[in-house]
Amino acid sequence: MPVNIEQYKKITSALDNATLVAVSKTKPNEDIQTLYDLGQRDFGENYVQELVDKQAALSNDIRWHFIGHLQSNKVKYIAPFVHLIHGVDSLKLLKEINKQGAKHNRVIDCLLQVHIAQEETKFGMDEAEIAEVRVAISELTNVRICGLMGMASFSEDISKVRTEFRSLKELFDRYREWSVVSGQWTVLSMGMSGDYAMAVEEGSTMVRIGSLLFGERNYTA
Ligand SMILES: *Cc1c(COP(=O)(O)O)cnc(C)c1O
Repeated sequence: MPVNIEQYKKITSALDNATLVAVSKTKPNEDIQTLYDLGQRDFGENYVQELVDKQAALSNDIRWHFIGHLQSNKVKYIAPFVHLIHGVDSLKLLKEINKQGAKHNRVIDCLLQVHIAQEETKFGMDEAEIAEVRVAISELTNVRICGLMGMASFSEDISKVRTEFRSLKELFDRYREWSVVSGQWTVLSMGMSGDYAMAVEEGSTMVRIGSLLFGERNYTA
């Protein structure tokens, strides 16, 4: 399926100040190049090996976002170049990112993934775990926490999804004082193909959109 350029233009003109991360997982380099040629620079990937391969093949000025579930033993592969890691869901993982950041003489930008969906299956921290990170953060000088990321339930129930976005925004506002220790607190990553408009209404500053732009994914192909 070709890249939906009409949809891309529609989304970018509707977003105002929110940043679009084009989620290109499972999609070929040519599709990424198509959007790149239209000016898109932020791309999101979920799988470490795939991200490493694409980064090596494509333009150097792409900002690569890692949005998947990251295992500690794989941080080292993306540490040299990753722009923003969205899904930090444990202090252990954050410490490993810090270690790899130090090795590469970088400060790696991260978002804490918060568990907002009522579904059991979604990864993310609860408030107690976030508080634990808050205590540890001043010693982790090679990571910078820029904000929060969350995924709403996959639900037809629009009011439920809205409530989840709203609770994440509340948390984001409540933790604003983090900017004092982390240097930055500007990114609220929420909203995907099915719910991005609502997410922006509820205060999202960064949406992660895949299938609307690139078509449905076929994992078995
Ligand atoms: C795949 C993925 C997306 C994009 O999903 P679409 O519904 O295709 O827009 C966004 N965020 C995360 C964390 C993902 O894994």
